[in-house]
Amino acid sequence: MARIVMKFGGTSMAGMERIRSVAQRVKREAEAGNEVAVVVSAMAGETDRLVNFCREASSLYDRHEYDVVVSAGEQVTSGLLAIALQAIGVRARSWMGWQLPIRTSDGHGSARIEAIDTTALNAALASGEVAVIPGFQGVATGERVTTLGRGGSDTSAVAMAAAMKADRCDIYTDVDGVYTTDPRIVPRARKLKRVTYEEMLELASVGAKVLQTRSVGLAMKEQVRVQVLSSFLDEDGGSEPGTLIVGEEEIDDMERQLITGIAHDKNEAKITLTAVADRPGSVAAIFSPLADANINVDMIVQNIAHTGESTDVTFTVPKADLARSIEVLNGARDKIGFTEMKHDTRVSKISVVGVGMRSHAGVAATMFATLGERGINIQAITTSEIKVSVLIEEDYTELAVRVLHTAYGLDAEDAA
Ligand code: ADP
Ligand code: ASP
Ligand code: MG
Repeated sequence: MARIVMKFGGTSMAGMERIRSVAQRVKREAEAGNEVAVVVSAMAGETDRLVNFCREASSLYDRHEYDVVVSAGEQVTSGLLAIALQAIGVRARSWMGWQLPIRTSDGHGSARIEAIDTTALNAALASGEVAVIPGFQGVATGERVTTLGRGGSDTSAVAMAAAMKADRCDIYTDVDGVYTTDPRIVPRARKLKRVTYEEMLELASVGAKVLQTRSVGLAMKEQVRVQVLSSFLDEDGGSEPGTLIVGEEEIDDMERQLITGIAHDKNEAKITLTAVADRPGSVAAIFSPLADANINVDMIVQNIAHTGESTDVTFTVPKADLARSIEVLNGARDKIGFTEMKHDTRVSKISVVGVGMRSHAGVAATMFATLGERGINIQAITTSEIKVSVLIEEDYTELAVRVLHTAYGLDAEDAA
C-alpha cells in the first residue's frame, strides 16, 4: 500500500467525459489498496474566464475578491469529481482549502502555502475514503480565501504530498512528460525519462509551464517524488512511464547532457529609459520604486554612456505589470531623470538550460551564432550558472526554439 497524490490539470478536467475518465484512473489506484488524495484544477479555460470577469467588473479590482472569484473553478471540479467517483462505487469526499485548512500568506493572487492541517485528511484516508482537494486555493488571515498564482494547482499537489508524507506525487497533464522543449512547438522534442530538480526549477522559471516554478522548488526542498504523466494515455489501465524529477545524484554519467532543454516565455514586456543620468544612484532610483511596488524585474541592460553624461537602461517586467510599471516610473521621473520611456510587448525570452554548462564553455556562443545565422536580433541577455536567456522579437519565437533545439543536438532520433 502506498500514499499517493494524483493531480489533474485543466485539460484533464475539461468536461464530464474527461472527469469520468479521471474517476476511473483514481478508482484503479484506490482499488490497488492505495490511500489516494486527488488535487484538481478548474476546467481548461475556466480560470481565464473568471479572471476576465474581474477585469470587466473593474480595472482596479480588489485582490481579495479576485481570489473569491477565481478559486471557484476548482470548487466546481472537485465536487464533480467526488460525484463521479461515488457514481462508480468509490467512497469520496471533497475538501475545500478552508475546510482542511490549507493556510497561506496574505499575498492575495499569488499566496504562498505556509501550513496544511492533515488531521481531517488522515482520518478520511484511513477510513478508505478518497479525498478530492481543489488546487490553487487556500485560506489566509481572517479566513479569507486566497489563490496561489496561475498554474498553482501543481504547488497545491506537491505541498499536499509533503504534508501527508505521500510516497508519490503524480502530476497528470495533457503531455506524457517533460520534454526537451514544448512538444507543441517542436514536434521533434524528446521526452526526458528523468530530469533533476535543479534543471526543472530553471526550466519552469524561464517559461516551461508544464510545472509551476514554486511546485518544483517545494518538491526539491521537501524531497517529494514527482512524476509528470499523461491523463490521456493508457485510459484502459496500462502504465506508460512519464518523467521523474530526481536528485542530481540519481542521474548517471551516461544520462547527463550538456543541455537539458529550451524554454520560451512571451509574458514579459521590455521597457527602455533613454538618457538616464550617468551617476551613482540613478539605477537604484529606477529599480527601488519598482521593487516597492512588488514588480519583478527580470533582464537588465545598461548601455555605455555615449556622451559621458547619460545612458540608456533597458529591462523587462511581467506583461501583466507593464501599466503599473509605467505609472511607477513616471512617478519617479524627477528622481531618475530620464528623457523618454519606450515600451514593447512584442518580445519573447528564449532560454537554454543545462547543468552541463557549469563545466563546458561555448553554450552561449552557440546560441548567439545560431540566432545570428537566422537573422534573429538579440535585444538583451542574462545568464546564470546553468542558463542563458536572450530577448528577441516575439514573431521569431517558434523559429528560434526550433533552430536552437537542432543546434544543441536535442532533436529526437526517429524524427523525420
Ligand atoms: P495543466 O492544465 O495540466 O496544468 P499546463 O497547460 O499548465 O497543463 O502544462 C502543460 C503544457 O506545458 C503542455 O501542453 C505543453 O504545451 C507545455 N510545455 C511547455 N514546455 C514543456 C516541456 N518542456 N515539456 C512538456 N510540456 C511543456
Ligand atoms: N486553474 C488555475 C490556473 O489556470 C490553477 C491551475 O490550473 O494550476 O491557473
Ligand atoms: Mg499547469
